[in-house]
Parts: sequence; C-alpha cells; structure tokens
Amino acid sequence: MIKEIVQDGHPALRNKAVEISPEKINTQEVQELIQNMHDSLSTQKDGVALAAPQIGVEKQIFIIAPFIFENPEKEHIVYINPKIISRSKKSSWKDEGCLSCRWKVGQVDRNEEIEIEAYDENGKKFTTKGTDLLAHIFQHETDHFDGILFLDKARNLRDMTEKEINEINN
Ligand SMILES: [Zn+2]
Repeated sequence: MIKEIVQDGHPALRNKAVEISPEKINTQEVQELIQNMHDSLSTQKDGVALAAPQIGVEKQIFIIAPFIFENPEKEHIVYINPKIISRSKKSSWKDEGCLSCRWKVGQVDRNEEIEIEAYDENGKKFTTKGTDLLAHIFQHETDHFDGILFLDKARNLRDMTEKEINEINN
C-alpha cells in the first residue's frame, strides 16, 4: 500500500527508531511494512532508498531501490536493524537529497566505504560492503534512525530549480 512520505517537521523524522525483534521479521505486520515501503518508494522517480520513519513508522528498516544495482536479484534490498561495523578513513563530498526534504540538494561528506551488518526480509543476518553511492546511502539511511537529516550535515544547501525538478518528474 502506498503511504505518504512525511516531510521535514514531522516528529517521526526526529525521533529514534527502534529495532525490530529478529523473530518478528516474518510476521505479517513487518512484511506489510516492507511491502508498503516498496510501494511508496516506487512512486518516486528519483528515490534511491527509503527508511521506515519516512512513512511515519519509527522502526529500523530501510530499503534500496533495485534500479541502482546492475544485478538487483544478487543484492541486498532490505536492511533491518542495520549497524555500520566499519568505515574507510577516506571520505568525500557528494550531492544528496532526501524524499522527506523536498526539493533540496546539498553536499554531504561521508566515508567512501562502509561495511554494514543487518537482517534481510527473511530474518537472515548478513554483512555487506558498500562503496561510493551505496556507502553514502548506508550512512544517510542509518542517520534517519537517529533522527538526523542530511540537511543537518550539508554544505551548499539550496532549493532545486524548477528545471531540475521537471527533469526528475518527466
Ligand atoms: Zn532521507
């Protein structure tokens, strides 16, 4: 079911998100939440990821849009109770936006390589590495669970131009 993506100012974006008991991952409640997140993310042409607080659910789940992967069926799409377990020393600034901070863009300094541990949608624990865009996504999404928005860390923050917005929506 498509849910409204809440915007900056909504309390769910500033509260701490809680972990999900691993044994509850296979319940209808959690599976429906994951489905609602997929349905909601797929309405956003430029959406690369979505965290549960962005649909008002203060739980530690984020999903990544399959289109960012060359072989999505071989990749992890759903991350439950994710923990960053290591990060590269090297970092870089990259353009970022957020579906809950429409329509803003700014650069954020993030570690270039991240190792993350999480449970998948079947309740299986895994670890995986992300570099470059994926590393930025891992850090942006886990920040959502601490009530942190990219706006808090961005430089050169600005509103997107009408032209930029039209390019996304057309
Ligand atoms: Zn975001």
